[in-house]
Amino acid sequence: MKCFGCPVKCGADREIYAGLCGVKGLKIAKYYLHPYEEPCISYKNGSGCIFFCGCSLKCVFCQNFELSRNSRGKEISVQELADIFKELEDMGADNINLVTPTHYLRDIIRALEIYRPKIPIVYNTHGYENIEDLKLADEFTDIWLTDLKFIDPMLAKRYTARADYPGYALPAVKFMSQKPLKMQDGKMLSGCIVRHLLLPLAAYDGVNVVKFMSGLNKDVYFSLMSQYIPCGVVARYNELKRRITKREYNTVLAAVERYGLKNVFVQDFSSAKEEFIPKWDY
Ligand code: SF4
Repeated sequence: MKCFGCPVKCGADREIYAGLCGVKGLKIAKYYLHPYEEPCISYKNGSGCIFFCGCSLKCVFCQNFELSRNSRGKEISVQELADIFKELEDMGADNINLVTPTHYLRDIIRALEIYRPKIPIVYNTHGYENIEDLKLADEFTDIWLTDLKFIDPMLAKRYTARADYPGYALPAVKFMSQKPLKMQDGKMLSGCIVRHLLLPLAAYDGVNVVKFMSGLNKDVYFSLMSQYIPCGVVARYNELKRRITKREYNTVLAAVERYGLKNVFVQDFSSAKEEFIPKWDY
């Protein structure tokens, strides 16, 4: 069956060959209780993350490069995915966190028909999404955890395979921002978090992201990430060979104050550490 499961709409028959997302079957690289998500997501026991392989965006600076380029991972069945939901729940996970799930949406829906966890489900996406697919995912998603990587199409063109990223991500974030916020003792049960990874020489775009956030529902959380370290295939991009500067960080932080964002997570300037990148199991 042809796949049109992401904005690329490449039409690959993934039972036979891989699409532009790089994968055919259902493939994961790790699942575990992850301690390094936002505090309301990792909470006390950790977020039950399942790291899916493949990605249609192909960011050159991807911190999960081996997964997104599909050079690691193991194929699992839909039944095994359902079993993993149950196992993570039994381990005490505070939620089930589907990391880069877009190109597996139909498999995830089938797995949830086999076993539906009683804990919140987090849809953890790069933001390059079709609204029709988000409406399908909305049926089971309690928490949207989305990137908003760029607003400037020139950055999307330079750093990803998809120059049209902002054209899909901005309406997608608006859609996700409508999820009602529900917190209990500091744990998120329902809501939306929008992440922005600040890149070197791109503080101006970070400011534009903050400005965009100020037009959304005030309950939406903004998560400013300063953990950028040179990863992936940045050798051809001189500007990406360094970490962000204090000045770039402060520029975006000042915008957060200026635009009056209410719900904000901010990583310390010193958060650029490799320990945030999990060690893959498969
Ligand atoms: S999910 Fe993969 S196979 Fe399907 S349209 Fe997107 S890139 Fe192509």
